[in-house]
Amino acid sequence: MKSFHFAFLFFTLLFFTNSCSQSKKVEVEDITLEDTVFVEEDLTFGFDLDEYIVKYDTVEQGWTWNNLFEDFDINQYTINTTAERLKDSLIDMKYILAGKPFMTLKSKKDTSNAPKYLVYEPDVFSYVTFDFNSDSVGIRKEERPIEIQEKMVSGRIEKNSNLSVELGKNFDNYMMTAAISDAIEGVYAWSVDFFKLQAGDKFVVYYDEKSVDGVPYSVDKIKYVWFEHANEGLYAFNFTDSTGEVSGYYDDKANEMKRPFLMSPVKFSRISSSFNMNRLHPIYKTRRPHLGTDYAAPTGTPILATADGTISKASRSRGNGIYVKIRHNKTYDTQYLHMSKIANGIRPGVRVKQGDVIGYVGSTGAATGPHVCYRFWKNGRQINHRSEKFPKSEPMKEEVKPEFFEYIKPLKEKLDLERLKLTVTPALEPEV
Ligand SMILES: [Zn+2]
Repeated sequence: MKSFHFAFLFFTLLFFTNSCSQSKKVEVEDITLEDTVFVEEDLTFGFDLDEYIVKYDTVEQGWTWNNLFEDFDINQYTINTTAERLKDSLIDMKYILAGKPFMTLKSKKDTSNAPKYLVYEPDVFSYVTFDFNSDSVGIRKEERPIEIQEKMVSGRIEKNSNLSVELGKNFDNYMMTAAISDAIEGVYAWSVDFFKLQAGDKFVVYYDEKSVDGVPYSVDKIKYVWFEHANEGLYAFNFTDSTGEVSGYYDDKANEMKRPFLMSPVKFSRISSSFNMNRLHPIYKTRRPHLGTDYAAPTGTPILATADGTISKASRSRGNGIYVKIRHNKTYDTQYLHMSKIANGIRPGVRVKQGDVIGYVGSTGAATGPHVCYRFWKNGRQINHRSEKFPKSEPMKEEVKPEFFEYIKPLKEKLDLERLKLTVTPALEPEV
């Protein structure tokens, strides 16, 4: 549409120059219109909408193809065969989905009552065009191109706020906020306890954004980040060396950012009760130590193994409810209580990897609401995992380091530039 407005404005100007100022006429005639103005046809789904009467609508709950095609002049047999053809592997549409948009188009020149075209959008990536001009309905599925573009988002954690809330100020789309917050927590899962974020913590994140038709819908990957927690800054760079053998997130000293344990077994949760040697128990109403950390999250939220290990228990007891325990090595065990259900295939003896889903949040056993009580054992004693310092993982191979430092140099400069903007105090009002 923009190109059309521009062309219109250009012609108008041309007209005025022409008629109002005769002396400049020669100059104006020198301009060859073909060279200067390119009027691009404005097509939506391949249609010039100016030539059609367009009706926009949304699929309603419980609709079948019959409802979708009701404005069209076709019989039940054609509807059935069309529905059959939609199931084939190229189109792969078995049902229509409630809430999805569609539009019908009727040519302004057409004298019949029924529209001749329908465009249905099953998702943001594609649309399906139906052509009812002949006896057999024409079906075409078009994919929209996915664009990937580097973007930056930065900010600071305000009082009584959190990462999602701060990120949310930059996006009008909850999906993007969730995708970025999830990706950042993934990068720093081993080094920052996101439940301990405090006012003044800052972040600068460069990421690749995926969009369709200029509308962002997800994060392809987090590329490089700077995160400051409690006045301590941490860089993270996504790096793959030229041989492809070394790959992952590394800090500015080439240490891989992977740690033996994830900071928490659930994403998007909050700590409802910390490890505490003298807690008043909400059910037993007595003071007894709380030897775990409670993460409140909706029933059904996946619970992740915080480290590689072997399942030692997948069972049920009165207090613990449904629970899983994992043996990681000679020193460490972790235990996850009050599950609504244990994940498929999780039973004693099974090996799990860090981040594998082992069960789902619930409130079985002595629990007042849905949460996972995460218990961390060191040499057979329960400890507070949030105050345990874990060893850093292996450093990068020496021969890869020069390539790494070369790669991160300009990226670090970009991050530093942005973090400076976050720390600069606002200019004072000029005196009157
Ligand atoms: Zn607990």
